[in-house]
Amino acid sequence: MQFTQLGLSPELLRAIGEQGYTTPTPIQAQAIPHVLAGRDLEALAQTGTGKTAAFVLPILQRLTQPATASDPATPLARLTHTAPRVLVLVPTRELAAQVQESVRTYGKHTGIRSLAVFGGVGINPQIQTLRRGIDILVATPGRLLDHLEQRTVDLSKIQTLVLDEADRMFDMGFINDIRKIIAKLPKQRQNLLFSATFAPEVRELAHGILKNPALVEVARRNAPAELVAQSVIRVDQAQKKEVLLHLLEAHGWHQVLVFCRTKHGADALAKRLDQSGVRSAALHGNKSQNARTRALADFKSGKLAVLVATDIAARGIDIDSLPHVVNFELPHVPEDYIHRIGRTGRAGASGQAISLVSIDERIQLRDIERLLKRELESSILPGFEPQQKHASPRPPAGRPPVRHAPRPSAPAGGRNGAGRSSRAGAGGGKPVAHHSGQRHR
Ligand code: AMP
Repeated sequence: MQFTQLGLSPELLRAIGEQGYTTPTPIQAQAIPHVLAGRDLEALAQTGTGKTAAFVLPILQRLTQPATASDPATPLARLTHTAPRVLVLVPTRELAAQVQESVRTYGKHTGIRSLAVFGGVGINPQIQTLRRGIDILVATPGRLLDHLEQRTVDLSKIQTLVLDEADRMFDMGFINDIRKIIAKLPKQRQNLLFSATFAPEVRELAHGILKNPALVEVARRNAPAELVAQSVIRVDQAQKKEVLLHLLEAHGWHQVLVFCRTKHGADALAKRLDQSGVRSAALHGNKSQNARTRALADFKSGKLAVLVATDIAARGIDIDSLPHVVNFELPHVPEDYIHRIGRTGRAGASGQAISLVSIDERIQLRDIERLLKRELESSILPGFEPQQKHASPRPPAGRPPVRHAPRPSAPAGGRNGAGRSSRAGAGGGKPVAHHSGQRHR
């Protein structure tokens, strides 16, 4: 299938062509016709599937090309409307900026005006742009509520609502904010909901909002991108920094996204890598918007070899064909593992995700494997053999499995999470033992 078969306007096809895209991704091919037809949509798609264009393109089309004479998207409406007609709600600032960038890219030849509003930056420039009038508003819930309270935004003309990364909005506790915002929208509107997973609470939200939605699903339920080669290296916590450095050096990786669980851990790891001559920066919520934008730009341009990110900060990072993701620590929430590895293997490129797993993370690993419905290949790196026994024998029959005391949640001192992603274990040392499917019990 070609983009030209989707019935998109010449202005949009031109912008798509300028991006070098000819073939729609599966989510685009499936979702665009429904959105163009004005239907509600429930889409299960991870980041990296091309989901942004799957809603941005048909929305642009509907705003610029009226389907019928009575369609509000008439040229006249375009000239006279100052209030936004499309609202895209996203969980993070980065994602807001990226979605708006996509609107700009694809809407380049349409004259559609857009704005991203999010916290961490001054509100006044946003107010000024809103006053001048925009068509598409991309927003994080908190800042949008600020605008609503100050009456600096008018949501009474919204025709289409998009909830992007709905599962993440739940994880971040935005559900009440979302409900407050939705209460301000016209009842008659099109609703599009995108989520990487359909956790029960996401389903409930979807049922409350969507009317007779088309269902589009491009990934297996709760399954990571098929293209990502995933593996585990078992190592002691205290050795993880050394192992990461070793892997970076041995492979000469130049663009690695490393995940830590805490901001403090991300900072400490980025600093340690930098001291060892690996150009690195940390990306997390305590950084100013400018610092985050700069770190991301430097990472994309190749100035930084490693970006150490927390789960929340990494949402919405959009990098074409990011080759390596390393879980320095496993996430507490197994779904976050899927989000993390979804940063690689995007839009058809293959990727690698490596998790450095210490003995005290066996519970998280078990939960992730349950979610994946398979066991991950695990190995030990020569020279970095864990001293703490990893694969303890299964408990004898009749005895209950050993239960481990829960870890203190998010220790303030911060542990770092970065894994290393490499398909073939370590360049500077092949995995000494290859225990495919061995569980860390
Ligand atoms: P997304 O899932 O929206 O974050 O998109 C993932 C990446 O795929 C982005 O870098 C897009 O620019 C890219 N992309 C989107 N649509 C296509 C397409 N049809 N062909 C190739 N790449 C695409």
